[in-house]
Amino acid sequence: MQKIEITSDFHTHTRYSHGKGSVLDNAMQAQKLGFDCIAITDHGVNHPLVGVSRTRFDEIRADIANVQSSIDDCKILFGIEGNVIGEDGEIDLTDEDVARLDIVLAGFHLTAKPAKFRYYGSLVFNGLTHYIAPASSRQIATNTRAYVNAVKKHPIDVLTHLGFRLDVDYKEVAKACADYGTFIELSSRHKTPSDKVIEDILSTGATFIVNSDAHKVENIGKWEYAMSLIDKFDIPEARIANCNHKIPQFRSRYQR
Ligand SMILES: [Zn+2]
Ligand SMILES: [Zn+2]
Repeated sequence: MQKIEITSDFHTHTRYSHGKGSVLDNAMQAQKLGFDCIAITDHGVNHPLVGVSRTRFDEIRADIANVQSSIDDCKILFGIEGNVIGEDGEIDLTDEDVARLDIVLAGFHLTAKPAKFRYYGSLVFNGLTHYIAPASSRQIATNTRAYVNAVKKHPIDVLTHLGFRLDVDYKEVAKACADYGTFIELSSRHKTPSDKVIEDILSTGATFIVNSDAHKVENIGKWEYAMSLIDKFDIPEARIANCNHKIPQFRSRYQR
């Protein structure tokens, strides 16, 4: 049997949005767990109340640099978990924002302000009805268009919690991810993607990444759900970007 050990966590929150810990807390926990790398990825600006304004990017960058100066065996990356906010693939990060980040994550959050008012009637509505009724084929087409366009138009490194609140055509989204070099997160926090769609994703060339999405320090490195999927579907090492001390090639960095 293959041995899969996850050796970096590329999705953690701090008090810069609504996480509980500081950059130092998260980094020290990652170091304690023996990780090669940890990413500080607070919520994007359209996330209500807690989204990080771009005017704070320099402050976070300086905080990370300061913490990094006392931790030399675990690399700390500065990222943002952007919001998917439109059917045409709009996200709440500009090209200039992306150029200031080490890693770019993006996902759909129901309460994030959409790019256009009319998306309240499509994307936001689809998110609202997610747990009430199965998505219609029209809803799935809209959601899929949003994700595929986001991956095409922006150098997104990781799609976070895919399938949380919005159902998509997983094969279509995964194909776009494979084509553009975006990793699909195995999220233990949100238990996504569901075990019903893993085979659809595996049938494409897409690669997964295992992240905690920790909002509390003690949840960093917790990925039981992801490990159970890896086990159940025998997901090979080559399809997991951050296992066994591999350092993923991130497209947002690669482009610079
Ligand atoms: Zn959050
Ligand atoms: Zn998150």
